[in-house]
Amino acid sequence: MSHDRAHRSPLAIDGGEPVRRTMLPYGRQSISEDDIASVVEVLRSDWLTTGPKVGEFEEAFAAAVGARHAVAFSSGTAALHGAVFAANLGSGDEAITTPLTFCATANSVLYQGARPVFADVTADTLNLSPEAAAARVTSQTRALIPVDYAGHPADLDAVMALADRHGLTVIEDASHALGATYRGRRVGQIAHLTTFSLHPVKHLTTGEGGMVTTDDGVLARRLRLFRNHGIESDVRTRQQAGEYRYEMIELGFNYRLPDIACALGLSQLSRLSANVARRREIAAEYQRALSGVPGLQAPAERDEAESAWHLYPVRIVAGGATRDAVFRAMRAEGIGVNVHYIPVHQHPFYRERFGVQSGIAPIAERAASELLSLPMFHGMSNADVADVVAAVQKVMMHFSAVPGPHA
Ligand SMILES: *Cc1c(COP(=O)(O)O)cnc(C)c1O
Repeated sequence: MSHDRAHRSPLAIDGGEPVRRTMLPYGRQSISEDDIASVVEVLRSDWLTTGPKVGEFEEAFAAAVGARHAVAFSSGTAALHGAVFAANLGSGDEAITTPLTFCATANSVLYQGARPVFADVTADTLNLSPEAAAARVTSQTRALIPVDYAGHPADLDAVMALADRHGLTVIEDASHALGATYRGRRVGQIAHLTTFSLHPVKHLTTGEGGMVTTDDGVLARRLRLFRNHGIESDVRTRQQAGEYRYEMIELGFNYRLPDIACALGLSQLSRLSANVARRREIAAEYQRALSGVPGLQAPAERDEAESAWHLYPVRIVAGGATRDAVFRAMRAEGIGVNVHYIPVHQHPFYRERFGVQSGIAPIAERAASELLSLPMFHGMSNADVADVVAAVQKVMMHFSAVPGPHA
């Protein structure tokens, strides 16, 4: 369909022809034949879990981000929980984080009995504002947990400087940012602890999985303890040493990532830079093709950062359409747009448990009402990208031509 016709044809939500007949998801994995062969090889081996693939994957991951240690976990959430444990947070302690994130970021603080404190974001990147965070530091603050929203690194120099001033640990939730750089350094080697998610919508996947990277050997040891019940040795080490005895010295969990998953991760890791490069290409095409569309604001990228583009969140800022109306119209066109995120402090659990009121983070709250994630994943074809562009143009032109607001 030509753009011209797209603009004039009726919206699918009003009974017109949709841009696509099959729904394009906002994110999805890519699995190669090599990935499949690697998993099958492990299935035929002696070790489905706690075997040799775990260490191999950890070493390769650490090298990929340029960190000394990488410790694998069963999910990105477990990785965050491990990082909060390693940083020694407990009851009475506070960690300052952004409300514009997946709830797991803040939940991981609660798991250890500490309290998440929300500070507002900066208007351009929607990452934790170092000034807002500084204003929330108290004598109970122990950690800062910035999130690299959409794949754009947080303001890490300012966050690290704030942490230095107050003796805090920085846990960077880089679930969106594997492959991103900040002032020429790779995400994963900057914060005291950096956590990643290996869920299928992220840059590389193990089905479910997570990773924590750190340069600190003491923190790495605590992470390994925590993911294995707080027990120092693992089954394979004891078997090799001909030893039955083990000692549990901390309260940990079973957060291990099986060899089956690690083999998949290792195989996927070889395509990480190609995946990130493809995401950058798609972001550049969106930026170019959507720049003149009325009512639409593209995501910002600062000079000092290269985003890994986990998401491509535009903002619906004017033109007579609400975000929810655009969301519904885009879905009807066959484009699987999504919203990242409802601010964590506005979820019923947080509202009821902490009595947190709307208004504590006005920039994040305002953004959350305007944000719309367009499909973004490395397996998207150029035709998929063109469909998204055609649907955005069609829907936004429609709403800007008809006097609003359309709720
Ligand atoms: C995906 C994600 C997580 C959780 O990861 P899981 O692997 O799904 O447990 C945490 N924080 C953010 C910001 C995420 O996007």
